[in-house]
Amino acid sequence: MSANRREFIRFVVAGAVTAGCPLDLSLVSAQNTESHGGATVDGESNRICHEVRDGKIFSRPPASAKHDVVIVGGGVSGLTAAHQLQHRNALLLEKEPHWGGNAYLMEYDGSTYATGAAFLEAKSEAFQFSKEIGLEPLPVNCPDGSIINGKFVPDTWGEGLGKLPYPPFVVESFKKFRKEMMAIDLDKRGEELFTVPFSSFMGVYAAEVKQWWDTFGPSNWGSTSDDTPASMGIEALQYNVISSREDNRYTFPGGLGAITKKLAEILQPVYGARMQTGATIVAVVPGKEEVQVTYMLGAELKTVSAKAVIMATPKFITRRIVEDIPEKQSNAMKAIRYAPYCVVNLIFNGPVFNRGYDNWCPGNTFTDFIVADWVIRKKPGYKQKYNILSCYTPLRETDRPRLLTDDGAKELAADVLRDFQKLTPETSINPIEVHIYRRGHPMYMSTPGLYTQIQPIVRQPMDRVFFANTDSEGPESTTNEAIKAARRAVHQAEARLAGTIAKRTAMVG
Ligand SMILES: Cc1cc2nc3c(=O)[nH]c(=O)nc-3n(C[C@H](O)[C@H](O)[C@H](O)COP(=O)(O)OP(=O)(O)OC[C@H]3O[C@@H](n4cnc5c(N)ncnc54)[C@H](O)[C@@H]3O)c2cc1C
Repeated sequence: MSANRREFIRFVVAGAVTAGCPLDLSLVSAQNTESHGGATVDGESNRICHEVRDGKIFSRPPASAKHDVVIVGGGVSGLTAAHQLQHRNALLLEKEPHWGGNAYLMEYDGSTYATGAAFLEAKSEAFQFSKEIGLEPLPVNCPDGSIINGKFVPDTWGEGLGKLPYPPFVVESFKKFRKEMMAIDLDKRGEELFTVPFSSFMGVYAAEVKQWWDTFGPSNWGSTSDDTPASMGIEALQYNVISSREDNRYTFPGGLGAITKKLAEILQPVYGARMQTGATIVAVVPGKEEVQVTYMLGAELKTVSAKAVIMATPKFITRRIVEDIPEKQSNAMKAIRYAPYCVVNLIFNGPVFNRGYDNWCPGNTFTDFIVADWVIRKKPGYKQKYNILSCYTPLRETDRPRLLTDDGAKELAADVLRDFQKLTPETSINPIEVHIYRRGHPMYMSTPGLYTQIQPIVRQPMDRVFFANTDSEGPESTTNEAIKAARRAVHQAEARLAGTIAKRTAMVG
């Protein structure tokens, strides 16, 4: 796209840095393994961020309050824990100015759109839980299509497979791949195939097969087929083929951020001042009788004590904050890799693309795009004022520095828009605005062995500190796993409050 054309379109960057994130560990590598090309992130708040990363010990004022439980992190996992602990004197702390973490929705002139999590499955705890809190999940009812070589093909892995606009030998290769992957019995081989890369099954097929999965994998679980356990890829294919007959997915307008929004609304009147955004935890220090939690609120450092703490933060942050994590567990946390990820929302002033819910676009800057109001667009009386298309744009780890500056994020969004406009004639239209939500480490990568060998170590309870967050569970970063992790951690915390010491299972690996 020429610079001139871009001038007419407003690019809005959101996400940790521009939202005034006080501890932008999500963008600045906590593991200190990457160069940031000399980029700096301004602001008092990011000084704190760098200091935590670099291991600074903050002064710890004496505890000014006592709680039964402190929950650190207000994503879906922390909010779920808080929901279960309403009867307790619990304190919920979140560093961002808003609740939701990676399941957060935003609005444009009354139209909601996702900046992260999109859909859930019917037979999941997340589905049940969303109903319990008064939401009505709506069916997607549209197997995923693909846009390839200028053509939209509905139902990629079902009826669409024979219609893919590739040369005949490539189409045959897709069909052979489907047949052979469908024949693998994951009940028997699932565990064994968790340690083998998915790409090891792909050598004999056309390169386009791998390209399609190297589009699907990063969007869904952060990794290309070289870094994906074979069981996950094969299961996803089997699921795609089955969902071409019966789509099991549900969502809300604007995606799963509806869940965190609702949870925050329910909890705020109950928790009042015990629910705090803009509070960055810098130290969690376990003691014999209680845990001291120190956090930065504005320019002030505060400490509170708690009988139990639930860490609902991602592990690359958690391991820096919690003292005395056993070395093996801390190393397991360090072994988790996280993908940088942008969601670029293209806002059109009227209908542009409504042919499929989730549309795969191999060979582009983004992997897929989702129609934000898909599940309500046919409701009687509903008129689509804005067609908001959420372009999922996972990056390679080495590209993380692109997100550190506003200009870098805008350039990426411009690439997304350019590629989107080239997809088909109908998409070659200018949006009225482009919104970019950038995150540095939002999705843990499902790599071979992570689920079977690393995550069981990661989630071991300490005496009074318990680990929630989706990255404790696996095999894939989902809202459902975040909810499950919260329930487990609450169960462990409740047992501790009742006087039971949680058992650590033998650490293998
Ligand atoms: C682009 C994208 C698309 C996705 N699509 C789907 C999907 O379709 N379906 C699905 O089920 N899942 C999806 N996921 C995954 C899903 O969003 C996550 O698994 C889920 O939101 C994780 O919730 P969580 O609470 O475990 O973690 P997080 O959302 O990471 O929450 C952790 C919270 O802790 C806060 N925090 C961190 N450090 C501190 C600190 N020091 N002090 C205080 N607070 C702190 C963070 O700001 C954050 O709010 C997607 C994820 C992404 C990024």
